[in-house]
Amino acid sequence: MNAMSNVILKITNLKTHFFTRRGVVKAVDGVDFELRRGECLCLVGESGCGKTVTALSILGLIDSPPGRIVDGEVRYDNLDLVKCSARQLRQIRGKEIAMVFQEAQSALNPVLTVGDQIIEQMKIHLPMEHREARNRALSLLEEMGVPSVERVMSSYPHQLSGGMKQRALIAMSLTCDPQILIADEPTTAVDVTIKAQILDIFRDLKAKRQMSLVFITHDLAVVAEIGDRAVVIYGGKNIESAPVSEIIGSPKHPYTAGLIGCLPDISQTTDRLASIPGNTPSPIDLPQGCSFHPRCSKVMEVCSQREPAQIAISQEHQVSCHLNQ
Ligand code: SF4
Repeated sequence: MNAMSNVILKITNLKTHFFTRRGVVKAVDGVDFELRRGECLCLVGESGCGKTVTALSILGLIDSPPGRIVDGEVRYDNLDLVKCSARQLRQIRGKEIAMVFQEAQSALNPVLTVGDQIIEQMKIHLPMEHREARNRALSLLEEMGVPSVERVMSSYPHQLSGGMKQRALIAMSLTCDPQILIADEPTTAVDVTIKAQILDIFRDLKAKRQMSLVFITHDLAVVAEIGDRAVVIYGGKNIESAPVSEIIGSPKHPYTAGLIGCLPDISQTTDRLASIPGNTPSPIDLPQGCSFHPRCSKVMEVCSQREPAQIAISQEHQVSCHLNQ
């Protein structure tokens, strides 16, 4: 099948701004990508680069005011989700496109048991008797590798470990068997053993349910393990996109190369991790030209004067950097 006809979600020039007293926060300022059926696409970048706001924009979950999608398209099936009514979005959200939110502890309701939360989520979209919904909740938790499912169903979130809460949250997102699952940093707050188990769950979902995944992470080691393709975001724009093997093996943007340089190297004797110098720019006051130029070791005169255009290195690899132009 040709790659274009296989696209399930297409984001074009998405811009989401927040209008605050201090000025306009350009959290997302020109993000483009497409998600193909059955693939895992990773959105990569440091905190504050616009990954989560991109995901919330897709689902129509931007608080307005102060936020607003000021430009762009989010094409799903024959719909532009940016133009859909709140009612249309409610029907799609959770049912066709679901999200596993960051930080399981705050995403779960502390005063309801895990079972009640999964059942409630199911009943929003599916006409189900309580017993049927309960059985489905049990089988989803089993699919997530939860031991003692009855005990977990009747537990409150604070009674569960971080890994168990994350599994419950993923089970909740699957209640309506969505076409697309967006997972926001699902491996950030768990230890390495649980992280490996959570990644296994997502790999299984992709393989067994042919689910299309958008996986948000700052960690290129996670991208290497789970992703098919990756989009690197900086300053609210995508600055490089390619198949994961190319992003890791042959990055063309100095920021992507910097992220790869931050990965721990077990052959090194030092216990200090490398980092990219400087901080992510404030989205209220992005630098002129290339927004990475104050931190870039390869900066040239043109970089602070002109924003680099996106160019294609190959059919599958795009980059925005003057070094490649
Ligand atoms: Fe560095 Fe210039 Fe490329 Fe930006 S455009 S990443 S500043 S070389």
